[in-house]
Amino acid sequence: MPTDAKNSLWRPYTQMRTAAPPLEAVRTSGSRIVLADGRELIDGIASWWTAVHGYNHPHIRTAVAAQLEAMPHVMFGGLTHAPAERLASRLAALAPGDLDHVFFTDSGSVAVEVALKMAAQMWLNRGIAGRSRFLAFRGGYHGDTMGAMSVCDPEEGMHRRFGAYLPTQVFCDLPRDDATADALDRALAEHGDTLAAIIVEPLVQGAGGMVMHAPETLARVARAAERHGLPLIADEIFTGFGRTGTLFACEQAGIVPDILCLSKALTGGTMALAATIARRPVFEAFLSDDPSAALMHGPTFMANPLACAAANASLDLFETEPRLEQARDIEIRLAEGLSGLRGLPGIADIRVLGAIGVVQFARAPDLAALKARFVEQGVWVRPFGDIVYLTPALTIAPDDLDRLCEAVAHVVRTSADTEAAP
Ligand SMILES: *Cc1c(COP(=O)(O)O)cnc(C)c1O
Repeated sequence: MPTDAKNSLWRPYTQMRTAAPPLEAVRTSGSRIVLADGRELIDGIASWWTAVHGYNHPHIRTAVAAQLEAMPHVMFGGLTHAPAERLASRLAALAPGDLDHVFFTDSGSVAVEVALKMAAQMWLNRGIAGRSRFLAFRGGYHGDTMGAMSVCDPEEGMHRRFGAYLPTQVFCDLPRDDATADALDRALAEHGDTLAAIIVEPLVQGAGGMVMHAPETLARVARAAERHGLPLIADEIFTGFGRTGTLFACEQAGIVPDILCLSKALTGGTMALAATIARRPVFEAFLSDDPSAALMHGPTFMANPLACAAANASLDLFETEPRLEQARDIEIRLAEGLSGLRGLPGIADIRVLGAIGVVQFARAPDLAALKARFVEQGVWVRPFGDIVYLTPALTIAPDDLDRLCEAVAHVVRTSADTEAAP
């Protein structure tokens, strides 16, 4: 088997000894990825669901090119610039309620780190010690850095490997019913005065397996946080910017989290940028005559002007083009396109929410074989764990989406796991 082990590049989540070498991409446009050998793939996952407007959108390219001429980067300590000022005020206006105070970083994991630090330091600034742990939900994923890893699902791989380095948090099941809601309340009653915040992925636990929950479940989490006087951190890094059919998933539950994390689609899939947005009461805990009460974080490339220009251009597109309608149209088409797989032997579940379509196997399939077969079908789809999912660009052409659904249906129907089943 050809391997990647002699290459200088060390790849993510990749066993470098045995993994097949990656495919070389040379060009993208719309929902297409062009490979070095000339093959063209229909993209079913929009580069980890970042490229919501499709690749190479001219409006974003123009904005980034203009910013590149004027000022690609400048430090954010002591200086400010129009792209960041404008983006912060636009995000504050779009985010629910009084989520008005925007702190920029450069990746989703770091946005989560900042949210955790914000919550912990908020208590210290209020003169309350001992609140340094977090309540998180089983099945969650919040990133790869230490703090973010510590609030990821406690049974998943990284936790087991790095357990010795990680702070221990409190884990509960999402309160989908009365029993789990009671268990959450009991955990909050028991640990509440050691907790700084609750963190949740609204409506969809993404990298944990694209597992969805009802808006009422999210509303229960928000009510529990309120009852126990804890801030709620909503990690909308996956769900933000239309993926679930509304601009933010929190809107569907009518809740306003105390801290909101955004990244992934923030720049329309073009540049690394993230935002941690706080409600006024959180922000006000940092206002003081004491310099050490300031938020103690500041990445070198925070609020990078190129990335802010891309994000502003992306927000323009949400204003001028019907992205949320497109997400809802995709939902209907995905539901239709995947419905034929429901009930097949070897298939545990088919689920769709907004522009997210998921096929879950009864047991984990041979992922490498599945991935190769999708490429043979001319589509870019990356199954993980026990699922195959589609999170296309919100602008994907209906024909392309149908072809993606057909490819998923074909590959799933003819995969060994479903064939072998009685
Ligand atoms: C991707 C993701 C992260 C981590 O973002 P990175 O930019 O990869 O660090 C955190 N939370 C959620 C919900 C995500 O989907």
